[in-house]
Amino acid sequence: MPVPPHPLTELLTPYLRALAKTSPAVARQFLGVAAEAEATPDDLADPIGDAAHSPLPGLVHRYPDRVLLLPTMACASHCRFCFRRDRVGARRMSDGQLDAALAYVSARPQIHEVILSGGDPLTLPQARLADLLARLDAIDSVETVRIHTRLAVHDPARAVRVAQALAPERRAALWIALHVNHADELTAEAKAAIRALHGAGAFLVSQTVLLAGVNDDAATLATLFRALVRQGVKPYYLHHPDRAAGTEHFRVPLARGRALVETLRGTLSGLAQPTYVLDIPGGHGKVWATDAYVTPAADGSWTARAIDGSRHPYPADADAVVAVPPTK
Ligand SMILES: *Cc1c(COP(=O)(O)O)cnc(C)c1O
Ligand code: SF4
Repeated sequence: MPVPPHPLTELLTPYLRALAKTSPAVARQFLGVAAEAEATPDDLADPIGDAAHSPLPGLVHRYPDRVLLLPTMACASHCRFCFRRDRVGARRMSDGQLDAALAYVSARPQIHEVILSGGDPLTLPQARLADLLARLDAIDSVETVRIHTRLAVHDPARAVRVAQALAPERRAALWIALHVNHADELTAEAKAAIRALHGAGAFLVSQTVLLAGVNDDAATLATLFRALVRQGVKPYYLHHPDRAAGTEHFRVPLARGRALVETLRGTLSGLAQPTYVLDIPGGHGKVWATDAYVTPAADGSWTARAIDGSRHPYPADADAVVAVPPTK
């Protein structure tokens, strides 16, 4: 059922605009194209389903031991494939909403991990970020704070400043999940930002979204994952792209993604291999996109098994191009 795509303003830092001139992979991720305005039958109305698990504004509690906290919906640049494009913008949690979210976490000692996402949490004003991290650190049951960010790619110089301002002492472990989709994003400046985050005592993993025309071939992915390992960043997740309206031109057939991952398994160090995951539409959670959870049906569609054992149909791709070119 096609839903009209939500418009997303074009927003690039000057750094990224310059990089887009030399890197087609960066240009495709950040420069808007007319195709974004088209709804297609492949779109899903609720590709992630956060709303089903949101007990309070800015909080998503889908798994017992961890919560997602969305302190800001702002990002330093806008990625054209963004699956939260309906929500990305300047909006921030109010003081009262943050108080309520932190009280929710404090009252539930089974929550061991708080994941800051958005938007990009590292774009918060530094005093506000420092205050939030200090308050999370003061909740004894929170063992780990994880920050999902793309700032080292969008604006590496700013990421260095943020890293240098992080408190040197903390009780809870600080993990950073850096969103990187192509080795072109790992410029000297971005590497300096990664070093600064390591210097601040953070542990780093990466997330990559599989995107048609950006990184949907084995050689490009292998180069990216090796480059991340070399920077001390463990590739964590390779996300199958969600079917948000306006992102049709980035879609990769699931069968092709699975074939790519198979190819990488034979050629890359385990350190350089992320887990390929699919977010089951409708809020049923992330599962491995491999046969353990996602199985093909005779008609080309799929069945995804959620962690709770429930089974959900995942539609076939409209015009699947499955063949994978050999690794260069
Ligand atoms: C993805 C996600 C998480 C984190 O899951 P991990 O598998 O631990 O990375 C947590 N909460 C929600 C709502 C999520 O969508
Ligand atoms: S950084 Fe994440 S939330 Fe922000 S625009 Fe890019 S994909 Fe969307």
